[in-house]
Amino acid sequence: MKIVVCIKQVPDTKGGVKFNPDGTLDRGAMLTIMNPDDKAGLEAALRIKDEYGAEVTVLTMGLPKADEVLREAMAMGADKGILVTDRVLGGADTWATSTTIAGAIRNLDYDLIITGRQAIDGDTAQVGPQISEHLDIPVISYAQDIKIEGDSVVVQRQYDDRYHVVKAKMPCLITALSELNEPRYMTPGGIFDAYDAEVTTWGRKDLKDVDDSNLGLAGSPTKIAKASDKVRKGAGEKVTLDPEEAVNYIVDKLTEKHVI
Ligand SMILES: Cc1cc2nc3c(=O)[nH]c(=O)nc-3n(C[C@H](O)[C@H](O)[C@H](O)COP(=O)(O)OP(=O)(O)OC[C@H]3O[C@@H](n4cnc5c(N)ncnc54)[C@H](O)[C@@H]3O)c2cc1C
Repeated sequence: MKIVVCIKQVPDTKGGVKFNPDGTLDRGAMLTIMNPDDKAGLEAALRIKDEYGAEVTVLTMGLPKADEVLREAMAMGADKGILVTDRVLGGADTWATSTTIAGAIRNLDYDLIITGRQAIDGDTAQVGPQISEHLDIPVISYAQDIKIEGDSVVVQRQYDDRYHVVKAKMPCLITALSELNEPRYMTPGGIFDAYDAEVTTWGRKDLKDVDDSNLGLAGSPTKIAKASDKVRKGAGEKVTLDPEEAVNYIVDKLTEKHVI
């Protein structure tokens, strides 16, 4: 069985977020981590590998330094890493990102593609389902449990107060929630091997069946017009009251602001 896991290197928001003058994220200037949902997706793939045997390929599109996130995945147990990087791919919105990733995946054999539900920087949750559309395969999003049954996957798809059990024949795409599992740590041996291993690097010319007009900032139907920090809340108000008065005070405030 062959599994492709799409992983994104995202800014570690604890280190602060920086923007370029054109409103795009200045990814080179920020501390980075593996996107949490993607790490859970990778762990799910590694558990399938442990149980049934599988070849796990991790794929990322990003700056050359996104190679780090592939090596981390390989140190956890992924077999191969593919970095898709090219200047013309920069500034992509979800359409251009998913077009690029699908173009790269068309070069690979796969039974299952796993993406995260959403990336903590863009936060759109669109890339996974869009990749499945480009590749014309079924998608099950919001996976909180994944099982393999013969040539199908059986997935618990999360809703607010329930879940659906959905079965799909492979090849298909699943988007993983970080609640899916507790990802394993890298092993020391895995770290040595991963840093010696070869990562395949692909550029624009390696993308299959994609048109330049759908790539990068120029090929993005959406453009960020403006990016700004959140409006900071004030320091708040401290009052000392009896419990009953305090309850009435809070209820009045919430009513005043139409919260209740
Ligand atoms: C309206 C709009 C306009 C935008 N315009 C710009 C712009 O002009 N310039 C710009 O730089 N950014 C732009 N972005 C951000 C850009 O779209 C996202 O960084 C990128 O398309 C991925 O989307 P996301 O982070 O929301 O991923 P999501 O859809 O939340 O990600 C879902 C999953 O897809 C996979 N995935 C996503 N991205 C990658 C990747 N690069 N490599 C591997 N796997 C991946 C991961 O598994 C991830 O968990 C824009 C976003 C929006 C909403």
